[in-house]
Amino acid sequence: MNGVLIVTGASAGIGSTTARIAAFSGWQRIVVHYGQDRDGAETTAAMVESMGAQAYLIQADVTKPKSIEKMFAKVRDLKPGPIGLVNNAGIVTPHGSIADLTPDRVRHVFAVNVFGAIEVARQSVALIREWGLGGAIVNISSMAARLGSANQYVDYAASKGAIDTFTLGLADELAPEGIRVNAIRPGLIETGIHAKGGQPDRLERLAPTTPMGRAGTTEECAEAILWLLSERASYVTRSILDVSGGR
Ligand code: NAD
Repeated sequence: MNGVLIVTGASAGIGSTTARIAAFSGWQRIVVHYGQDRDGAETTAAMVESMGAQAYLIQADVTKPKSIEKMFAKVRDLKPGPIGLVNNAGIVTPHGSIADLTPDRVRHVFAVNVFGAIEVARQSVALIREWGLGGAIVNISSMAARLGSANQYVDYAASKGAIDTFTLGLADELAPEGIRVNAIRPGLIETGIHAKGGQPDRLERLAPTTPMGRAGTTEECAEAILWLLSERASYVTRSILDVSGGR
């Protein structure tokens, strides 16, 4: 594949694994985007290159429009090709009820998960149109968008609800141009996000409550993402796929 795959938040977790498996499954050029974790991004890039693909390490804070603009200026320097976007960078908030929310906390989770994802998609669509060689987008939502996550993290859940709705609207708009837009809703996945959100015991506590009795892996998410981006899913757009072990 001579396309360019852009994976945001590829320094860890689902993004890192998706970049690695993408290289294994034929993507030749992969933009390994990262926010602050340069070491993690370098590890991802090394794994990508060990599979024989080219990795491009690009930093951007997705809450900052100028930063995203600079990132896409660098992507623009690459030789044009079809574009795949894995719109993955995100954060989780600590568990708590409405009384635990603060305006800053809510603003921040929306800045990363909603503003950041929309802005990255906006820049990607502009480049897909400019290059004229096609493209597909997969947004990373969450089962929290469906479940609401009462007494857990309503602000995070609401931010992912926005991603679901954004996915549907963008898919409608871009379908006539042949640009497919889908999303996955991961359930409980084994990554470091739970500890970063202040809940190191979350995986252990909630895995048994999943219908399949276990947490999912980043590989299981990556497979779904890469299928949605691939030609094998050429008639699939406006779909939001649960990758949740039945939750
Ligand atoms: P992770 O913490 O391992 O990865 C998140 C990535 O986003 C990191 O690389 C981080 O650096 C990046 N990021 C965060 N803020 C950023 C910013 N301001 N600018 C640039 N990059 C930034 O977590 P993960 O579990 O791999 O999460 C990936 C996506 O999957 C997120 O959108 C998350 O909401 C979603 N998700 C995860 C789970 C789960 O159980 N792990 C469940 C549902 C949804």
